[in-house]
Amino acid sequence: MRQVTILGATGSIGLSTLDVIRRHPDRFSVFALTANTQVEQMTRLCREFRPRFAVMADADAAEKLQVALVDIDETDVLAGEKGLCRVAEASEADTVMAAIVGAAGLPPTLAAVRAGKRVLLANKEALVMSGQLFMDAVVASGAQLLPIDSEHNAIFQCLPVNGNRPRNLCDDGVRRILLTASGGPFRTFSAESLRSVSPAQACAHPNWSMGQKISVDSATLMNKGLELIEACWLFNATTDQVEVHVHPESIIHSMVEYLDGSVLAQLGSPDMRTPIANGLAWPERIEAGVSPLDLFALGQFNFERPDLGRFPCLGLASEACRAGGTAPAVLNAANEVAVAAFLAGDLCFTDIPVIIEHALATASITAADSFETIFSQDEAARHIAAEQIRRSLV
Ligand code: NDP
Repeated sequence: MRQVTILGATGSIGLSTLDVIRRHPDRFSVFALTANTQVEQMTRLCREFRPRFAVMADADAAEKLQVALVDIDETDVLAGEKGLCRVAEASEADTVMAAIVGAAGLPPTLAAVRAGKRVLLANKEALVMSGQLFMDAVVASGAQLLPIDSEHNAIFQCLPVNGNRPRNLCDDGVRRILLTASGGPFRTFSAESLRSVSPAQACAHPNWSMGQKISVDSATLMNKGLELIEACWLFNATTDQVEVHVHPESIIHSMVEYLDGSVLAQLGSPDMRTPIANGLAWPERIEAGVSPLDLFALGQFNFERPDLGRFPCLGLASEACRAGGTAPAVLNAANEVAVAAFLAGDLCFTDIPVIIEHALATASITAADSFETIFSQDEAARHIAAEQIRRSLV
C-alpha cells in the first residue's frame, strides 16, 4: 500500500490524481492533502479520503478548514509553507505528488526530494527555477523523480533507462528528443488578432483541461519553453538535442529519436490520468479511467514548426536555458507576474513576453549557487516585472 501526499490536491492535477487513487483503494491511501484557499473543495476531499493531515497554505483558510472538519478526528489541519514542507517530508508517506502551481511549489517539492520520496513532478516551475541544485538534491537523497508532465512522461517511457535519470543521451544511443506541443488556442491567430485576446479565450485550451496559469502558458508557448528547460534537466540534454514539434491533435505526447533512425513515440488520449497513473504505479501499469484511443476517428496527425515571431516566449525560454545560472528563475518569476496581470485584465496578451524580456535584460543574472540565491532572484525579478506592468498602466 503506497501512502500518498498530494501537494495541490484541489487543482486540475490534484483532482485527477485523486480520481486515479479512488479507483485503487487496495494500492493507494492518502496521507496528506494540501491546497491554498479553496476550503469547500478541500473539506469535501477530506471527508472522502480521510487524510492524516490537511494543509492550507493560507492561514485564514486553514482556520476555516479546522472549523469545517471539527467532527473528523483523524485529520489534523496545518497551515503555511511550514505545514506544506512537514507533510511533504513526513516519514509515513512514500509518494508525493508535486502539483502546486508556480514557484510556491518549490519549497515543499524540495522537502520531499530531500526526504528521498518517490516524487511525481507536475510542478515544472520548481525544476525550471533551480535546475542543477534540484537535480543534485535528487541524487544526494536517492529520491525517485518521475515526470508527470505528459511530454516528459512520454519521453521517460520512450527512453531505454527507466530509472531516475538517464546517464547520458548519447551513451543511450539517443540523437534527439522531439517535444510535442499542441500550439494552444491561438495557433492559427494572426499577430494582429493576438493583441486583443481575452483571458477566457486563453484559458479555453482546445485539447486539455488545466488550471488557469498553465492554460495561459500554453497559449503563449511559455509552457513549451518551461518544458524545454525541464526536459534538459530531467534527461541530461542540451537545448540543441530537444526540438519542439507543434502537433495540434495532442495524441503523440513526445518522441525519442535514436542514432539508428528509430523514433519511439508514446501516444494516448489527452488525459493527465495516464501519466499520473504511470507515475503512481511505476513500473507497473494500472487502470486510469482513460478512454481508449480511437485512431480511426482521428484519421491523421499533423506537425508544424513553432512560430517564434508570434510566440516569442518559447525563444525567451530557450535563451534563458542557454544562458543558465539564475536566468531560468528570472524568466519563470517574470512570467508568473505577467500571467497574473493578464488574468486580472491589467496586461494584454502580447505584452507578456515584453515584460519577461525586460526582466531578463534588467535583472543581474548570476550563478545559481544556492537556493537562497534562487529565491532572492525570484523576488527581484517579480519586483522588476510588477514595476514594469505598473508603469505600463499609468
Ligand atoms: P491548478 O491551478 O489547477 O491547481 C493549483 C493547485 O496549487 C491548487 O491545489 C491550489 O490550491 C494550489 N496552490 C496555488 N497557489 C498555492 C500556494 N501559493 N501555495 C500552496 N498551494 C497553492 O494548477 P494545475 O493542476 O493545472 O497545475 C499544477 C502544476 O502542474 C503546474 O505547475 C502545472 O504547470 C503542472 N502541470 C499541469 C498540467 C495540467 O494538465 N493541469 C499538465 C502538466 C503539468 P487552491 O485550489 O486552494 O488555490
